[in-house]
Formats: sequence, structure tokens, C-alpha cells
Amino acid sequence: MSTTFYNSSLLFTSHWRMISEILILWFVFYRIMLFLKDTKAVYLLRGIVILIIAFFVFQKIGFDTLNWILAKIFAISVIALTIIFQPELRQGLVRLGQQQLFYTGFREAEAEALIKEVCTAVDILAQAKIGALIAIQREIGLKNYIESGIRLDANISSEIIRSIFVKDSPLHDGGVIIAGEKIVAATCLFPLSDNANLDRALGMRHRAGIGLSEETDAVVIIVSEERGVISLAVGGRLTSRLSKNDLAIILKGLIKRRKKK
Ligand code: ATP
Ligand code: MG
Repeated sequence: MSTTFYNSSLLFTSHWRMISEILILWFVFYRIMLFLKDTKAVYLLRGIVILIIAFFVFQKIGFDTLNWILAKIFAISVIALTIIFQPELRQGLVRLGQQQLFYTGFREAEAEALIKEVCTAVDILAQAKIGALIAIQREIGLKNYIESGIRLDANISSEIIRSIFVKDSPLHDGGVIIAGEKIVAATCLFPLSDNANLDRALGMRHRAGIGLSEETDAVVIIVSEERGVISLAVGGRLTSRLSKNDLAIILKGLIKRRKKK
């Protein structure tokens, strides 16, 4: 009786261990796939899969010389890949470190209020052709960028946002960062995008907005001083010529807490 109990409890723990392992593996792969999505590393992954298939095929057929060469290529490629993908690896590790473990998005009322204030401010700024750059923090903390600017910790209101960006304001240069229910900082320096495919007409403000959205998962709103146009940068992609309503709808989809299905 006691042995049966012992055996079944052993079986139970080994099952648990297996399930935990599968879950951890699934999570790690999921994260890697999310990270690789839309990057050049996807092609790399395809290349590696082709090489592995070739390796097994050659082994089955018995092509020893080809196998030997492939094995050598594998060994060298580990070092080569670390060098080639150094920026991506660095960025990936930084992201991993900055991720908030239990991020769930903005609460419904919080998101509605934020969107209303930001969209109102941005619309008025665009009509007056006053340049603006506003980042909304999501899962990845923007601490480094917040520290490059001046701390505000102000409640989010369209009046405050507008008064930050008016030309005579000492806070108008650089970007504003919103995190949670606060305008956390202004005059923040964002990383410039080095994407060579961007429209050449885009200046520093737009490149800084796109750059931050490449490095982090922040949602960045840009108002062009020259054209009075509202744009949104997410994941390195810029969507331009947005109306106040377009912006509100897109923002809702991006920052609101996901409902459990
Ligand atoms: P606009 O259409 O408004 O002219 P633009 O994309 O052409 O925008 P610039 O004219 O070069 O951009 O805008 C310069 C402004 O961009 C600066 O005054 C500054 O406020 C902001 N800016 C420039 N570089 C950065 C940066 N790295 N981080 C945050 N803001 C920046
Ligand atoms: Mg310009």
C-alpha cells in the first residue's frame, strides 16, 4: 500500500516536472519568436534550419567530407553569429532585464482618460504647427530615457502637455514620457533610428520617435512642426497623417488592458 502511494506520488512529481519543463520551454520559445519577429534574425533561423537538415541528410547518405565541412562551419558560425548579432543580442538582453514581470496594460478608466487628454493636446498642437514628441511606456521600463530629461511627475492633462511644447517653454526640446498615470519627464533624449529605408524628409524628431519604438515597446506620438501632421511610431513603424479620432482608436488598441477571454 505504502509503496503504491510512494510510486504514485513519484509519478505525480515527475509529471509535474515534465509539465513545468514543457511550460518553461514553450515560454522561452514564444519569447524568442516574439523577439525575432520582423527582424533579420528570422532569415538567419531559416538558414540554420536548412544547414541542420543538410547535415542529417549528408549523414544518412554518408557524405563524410561534406559532413566534416558542415561541422566546421557550425563551430565557426557560433562565434561569427555572436559578433554579427551583437547589437540584437545586447538589445534582447536589455529588454529582458527591463520587462515588468506582471505588466497587464492600463486600466480601462486610466486608458480612457490618458487617451482623451493626449489626443486633445496633440490635435491642438498639430493645428498650431507646434512640434511634439510623446512616448507612452508599456511593458518595457523607460528609466534610462526618463533620466536623460527633467522629472515632472505631473498628472496627465492636455493643458500641461500643450504648455510643455509651446516654443517659449524651457521644456519644449526633446520628448515627454508618460508612464502609468503620470507625465514622468520632459526634455528626454530618445535614441535616433538608423533605418536607411526611412523617408529622407523625416528629421530628428521623427527619427527619435521611431528609434525609441525600435529599442522598446513604447508607443510614440509625434507632431510635426513643419507639416502640422500627427504620426505614431510603434515597433519601428511610422503611421502618419492621423486624425485625432484615428489616434484615439489606435491608442485604445495599444495600451488598454487586455480582457480575459
Ligand atoms: P518637424 O516635422 O517637427 O520639423 P523633424 O522630424 O523634421 O520634425 P527636426 O526639425 O529635426 O525634426 O526637429 C528637431 C527637434 O527634434 C529638436 O528641437 C528636438 O526637440 C527634437 N529632437 C531631436 N533629436 C532628438 C532626440 N534624440 N530625442 C528627442 N528629441 C529630439
Ligand atoms: Mg524639421
